[in-house]
Amino acid sequence: MEEKKIVISGGGLVGSLLALLLGKAGYEVDVYEKRPDPLMTAPETGRSINLALSHRGIKALQAAGVEQETMNIAIPMKGRFIHHEDGTNSFQPYGEEGQVIYAVSRADLNKTLLNKAREAHNVKLFFNERCVKVNIEEFSIEFENKLDGTVKAREFSVLFGADGAFSQVRSSLLPTCRFNYSQEYLEYGYKELTIPSDAGAHRMEKNALHIWPREKFMLIALPNLDGTFTATLFLPFEGENSFESLKTDAQVETFFKSNFADAADLIPELKKQFAEHPTSALVTVKCYPWVYENRIALIGDAAHAIVPFYGQGMNAGFEDCRVLYDLVTKNWSLNSSLQEYQKLRKPAGDAVGQLALQNFIEMRDLVNDKKFLLRKKIEAIIHHKIPGYLPLYSMVTFSDLPYHEALEKGQKQERLMEEIMKIENIEALSEDKEVWEKIEEMVKREMGR
Ligand SMILES: Cc1cc2nc3c(=O)[nH]c(=O)nc-3n(C[C@H](O)[C@H](O)[C@H](O)COP(=O)(O)OP(=O)(O)OC[C@H]3O[C@@H](n4cnc5c(N)ncnc54)[C@H](O)[C@@H]3O)c2cc1C
Repeated sequence: MEEKKIVISGGGLVGSLLALLLGKAGYEVDVYEKRPDPLMTAPETGRSINLALSHRGIKALQAAGVEQETMNIAIPMKGRFIHHEDGTNSFQPYGEEGQVIYAVSRADLNKTLLNKAREAHNVKLFFNERCVKVNIEEFSIEFENKLDGTVKAREFSVLFGADGAFSQVRSSLLPTCRFNYSQEYLEYGYKELTIPSDAGAHRMEKNALHIWPREKFMLIALPNLDGTFTATLFLPFEGENSFESLKTDAQVETFFKSNFADAADLIPELKKQFAEHPTSALVTVKCYPWVYENRIALIGDAAHAIVPFYGQGMNAGFEDCRVLYDLVTKNWSLNSSLQEYQKLRKPAGDAVGQLALQNFIEMRDLVNDKKFLLRKKIEAIIHHKIPGYLPLYSMVTFSDLPYHEALEKGQKQERLMEEIMKIENIEALSEDKEVWEKIEEMVKREMGR
């Protein structure tokens, strides 16, 4: 078998980065993407327009030699800018001084990765080619050309399904022996809205991720390079304050005016946008095994689609690519790396899925809660004063500790923080030396375990 002939189905964020990395490792890579070439067409709407990129994603882009090009199209976000219900604002830094995450346009990032892939002599890109079937017994894949309707089969030595949450490659593995699969929809959906610029300038703080937490729902907004913000409303599909309850222009207007008054003022075409932009669903997909006969493998959302509340879906997919690249360059063989890849990445995929669901509660609900804010403040002091203590958010966002290890450590920290919050007079931490000594002792005891 000629191991060097690699086919990737899906030239989205993960497929294009994977092509770059495998090309760099010396493989012949063909990427088949169902959409038209983004150089020739305007970006599709309906998926998130911009995304938060953080350490894990950046590390993978670095490995592919495309970090600088990405930074040229990225906006640093230093923390959460909270828009409270009473009209006041507050700011919560994400980490230590200098620790930021980046807002980046999905379309621009995808284009950057595809353009870099185009430059590689051993990577070929095919657009308007939709995978319709994988013949798993023969190790061949069929693509339908969307322009002329022809269907052609293609053999592969290794096939990657990088075709997203509704992966056709994964569907072909469903009937195989002991293939586990689950998909679970959240009762919430999302809708994206654009906050226009003021003659090219941002109309809110540019270097922040804006959040309007309202307990049962929330609005967020990330900056774009052209001065606009992409706002995303997360709302239940049904019930009071739901997409179902916002049918008329008047209902939309009243809902925004009473819950997000400052944002409503910034979106002159709010009702039009609300009516015209799609409402999309949020799904968590789990499956296993990700590798079939060491010749078909799932990666990115095709292997582990997660809800977007930790801003980690793409970062996790990029980390899949980086881990695989490290294995391949260490083992000098792709087939023999695939088992190790899925053993390393499956627990990570499960953990980041769980973390993302947990963070929804934190974002929509707790960032507004006084006790929670005090806890975050105490955690930041612990992080600052006690070497080796890294809060969960930092472990996930600013480190590459495997997600499952971060989750486990985070659960221990959660229990510890619950105990710390019970300390008498905890609110007086900054003035009371004894309170700090108690905290220090508890943290060190926990860390020593
Ligand atoms: C609202 C929202 C906000 C998000 N925000 C963030 C964030 O801030 N940070 C973050 O890290 N992640 C975020 N994510 C997650 C992120 O979008 C995904 O994890 C990421 O896009 C996964 O990349 P992928 O390449 O695996 O899949 P996709 O991006 O879905 O790409 C799959 C590609 O395969 C192609 N394809 C599909 N089917 C076929 C077929 N049959 N044949 C050929 N090609 C096919 C598609 O056209 C597409 O180009 C968010 C997701 C959502 C929904």
